[in-house]
Amino acid sequence: MRFISTAFNRLLQIPGASVTDVVITEREVEVTLRPSSRLLQCPCGQRVRGGYDRRRRRWRHLDLASRKLWLVYDIRRLNCPNCGVRTEQVPWSRPGARHTRDFEDTVLWLARRTDRTSVATLLRCAWETVTAIINRTVEELLDERRLGEIYRIGVDEICYRHPHKYLTIIGDHATGTVIDIHPGRGVDSLTTFYDKLTAEQRADIEAVSMDGSTAFRSATEDKLPGATICYDPFHVMQWTNRALDEVFAAAMATNRADFNLSSGQWRKARTALRTGAERLNPTRGHLVRTITAQNHAIGTAWRMKEQLRQLFRIADPTRAPRYLRRWIQRAAASGIRPLVQLARRLELHFDGIIATIELGISNALIEGINAKIRLINARGYGHHSAEALTSMIYLCLGGLNPKLPTKT
Ligand SMILES: [Zn+2]
Repeated sequence: MRFISTAFNRLLQIPGASVTDVVITEREVEVTLRPSSRLLQCPCGQRVRGGYDRRRRRWRHLDLASRKLWLVYDIRRLNCPNCGVRTEQVPWSRPGARHTRDFEDTVLWLARRTDRTSVATLLRCAWETVTAIINRTVEELLDERRLGEIYRIGVDEICYRHPHKYLTIIGDHATGTVIDIHPGRGVDSLTTFYDKLTAEQRADIEAVSMDGSTAFRSATEDKLPGATICYDPFHVMQWTNRALDEVFAAAMATNRADFNLSSGQWRKARTALRTGAERLNPTRGHLVRTITAQNHAIGTAWRMKEQLRQLFRIADPTRAPRYLRRWIQRAAASGIRPLVQLARRLELHFDGIIATIELGISNALIEGINAKIRLINARGYGHHSAEALTSMIYLCLGGLNPKLPTKT
């Protein structure tokens, strides 16, 4: 017994504890621990002499060969001068956890890289356990996170469940990091974030990029009167592509026979029209040329879309106001209803779009957030609850860097 305990001590190297007993069964290995220190530690950090009472608890550790490995210890409660009666803090796990820190860190590391079912299968636990570990530990990682100074932020709303379930996401343009997430998409969601900042931090923010939301705009005008409001190129192009979609759908509805497209081709054509001209492969390029030549409205809408894309790549930003002004005039005069409506919208957002170009606000942050959230959903993490999705967004985009427990 003495030999096997020594062997497990050297093998597991549990911090602050030594092995007193090992039981190996067909499916499990159970390792009983004794803490090295005589003093008990409260989660607040206070060290206390003598326990209050004790209760046996098991923590799941990383598997040993094919066996599940459990750490067993009679965990004690203590009477802390600061907190009263609390359960002691053990060095191998986070407070309240039933898995060791190493197990949880492995979950976090894997969750950033692969789908939830794979993580659960590999670690032989329920996928609810994976979600619960992520939700709980991300909070701790967020407390340790150090954010630098923030000058330019981007705000976006994402719908995580239809209908009307939204999260407001605040990111930093310099690092592409998500700084904060709040439920909802109203004035309050963003105001809560602004209120959390110090007066100096608020004064440091020179620009806030957003979609066309009036809620975000009024929250920003109210709380950050000195900041410039910008409209993300991502959203402006989204409005433009929607207008193009409408023109295409209307043309298809009235002259479907002229186009001679199957429903599969119809979808392909719509995607091809949205795609930037330089990114089209030869087949799609041909499709776009054919459709835009065949129908005047589609041709006009497509060319206008491409011209608006060029606005965000303009070499000399001082030319941007004139370029946009002319674009709006042409769209308004086109006689094509979705383009006329878009012209009105861009007119309303004129200053914010020009500010975006002058400050060089890019698509990267909002595009990154949107792409990552699609990936998180596709991998099966939290499309149902705000908490699960929030934790995953922080884990993947929050500037957290969970490490694998294996020291190299
Ligand atoms: Zn305490």
